[in-house]
Amino acid sequence: MKDDNFLRENNARHMWHPMGHQGNSDANMPAIIAKAEGVVIEDLDGHKTVDAVGGLWCVNLGYSNNVIKDAIAKQLYDLPYYSAFSGTTNPPAIEASYAVREFFEPDGMVRSFFTSGGSDSVETCLRLSRQYHRLLGEPTRTKFISLKKGYHGTHFGGASVNGNNRFRIGYEPMLPGCFHLPSPYPYRNPFNETDPAQLAQNIANAFEDEVQFQGANTIAAFIMEPIQGAGGVIVPHESFMGLMRDVCDRHGILMIADEVITGFGRTGSWSGSTHYGVKPDMMSTAKGITSGYFPVGAALFNEKVADVFENSYPAVGGIYHGYTYSAHPVGAAAVTACLAETVRLDLRANAAARGKQLFEGCQALAAKHDIIGDVRGGTGLMTGFEMVSDKTAKTPIDPATVKRIQQATYEAGAMVRMGPPNILMSPPLTISEGEVQTILDALDTGLSAA
Ligand code: PMP
Repeated sequence: MKDDNFLRENNARHMWHPMGHQGNSDANMPAIIAKAEGVVIEDLDGHKTVDAVGGLWCVNLGYSNNVIKDAIAKQLYDLPYYSAFSGTTNPPAIEASYAVREFFEPDGMVRSFFTSGGSDSVETCLRLSRQYHRLLGEPTRTKFISLKKGYHGTHFGGASVNGNNRFRIGYEPMLPGCFHLPSPYPYRNPFNETDPAQLAQNIANAFEDEVQFQGANTIAAFIMEPIQGAGGVIVPHESFMGLMRDVCDRHGILMIADEVITGFGRTGSWSGSTHYGVKPDMMSTAKGITSGYFPVGAALFNEKVADVFENSYPAVGGIYHGYTYSAHPVGAAAVTACLAETVRLDLRANAAARGKQLFEGCQALAAKHDIIGDVRGGTGLMTGFEMVSDKTAKTPIDPATVKRIQQATYEAGAMVRMGPPNILMSPPLTISEGEVQTILDALDTGLSAA
């Protein structure tokens, strides 16, 4: 590897970074993470911190899982690439689809379509939901409904159903025919409703109203994250997902659960859908499927959807959609190894217990630091808090203060994620009680720097 000065000088000179301003100014200089072990990351200066972000909500099994690393290395020597496009496939891909089924069969998912990541998985679900209706003789069903504050990746379809304008402005016009309902976000919502159960009902009513307005026969699918992640860790009332499912069922609308973050144990269940006892028609997954060790995702489908594609009635049609790296053998080997480890370690209980500890710790911080307006989480290892400059008026904090807090927290020993006005956390599911305490202590120091 080149020396540290070379790396610092050349950062952003030849590479643009996702999700941020470009340029090699000091203000834009990222932490250059060079090594990791367990749940601890180390930057070029040798500064070690607990990774409260879990890479990017993805390193569920921590950084030191040699079973996954060995499987990847071995597969590189056996067969580094072969496609699964019509006419060929490869053994690891078949094994991986078998491994995935164990997690989502309880949710009714019976088929996997492999992708290169979460955005691809979302795009696959959106496109195939249109095709599903076309195959059934309802080609007018093309629209999508989603939730404000949702995050569904950055392809044009996913970005069009995203519910945060940061990801839209600069790229508009988005895909036509995408409509957004309010988020189940008690802290701020257009109904001024603070009771989560009533808010869930209000949004279900708004969904029903929107379907009546648009015409059910124009809507292909409704997509939601069981718990909204990047939008601020918004945990809905337990009735919410079921109420939305009911509206879909009444009107023949497919339900897509975007489980890119919530899949594979993060919520304390194998999926967010299992947690809420709801069976979607399609699921988008990624991240925890390889614990981030290799870029893989999977779109999953239930029997009802599989039947239409496999029997193609009354229309005839194949799936003319897929990626060069769909079912990549090295990625597939990573999936099989990662999922075997996910089952063996079964971190669901740890995710729930450590998630509760982190959530309650953040509530204690909110009692001490007035800048915290709302603490969210408590369902597995996804926690966030929203910051305000005036608690009564709920005035959102300025992004520069969030950056200062994040930086001070990093210096004090924990990497947390900024999503102004929020700080977001999703540490590896392997994290210990002591390591969660390290995050909380570092946050306490960081918040004092506001
Ligand atoms: N859906 C959700 C719910 C996500 O959280 C993300 C990524 N954070 C995506 C889709 C997009 O995944 P990727 O970045 O792997 O394309």
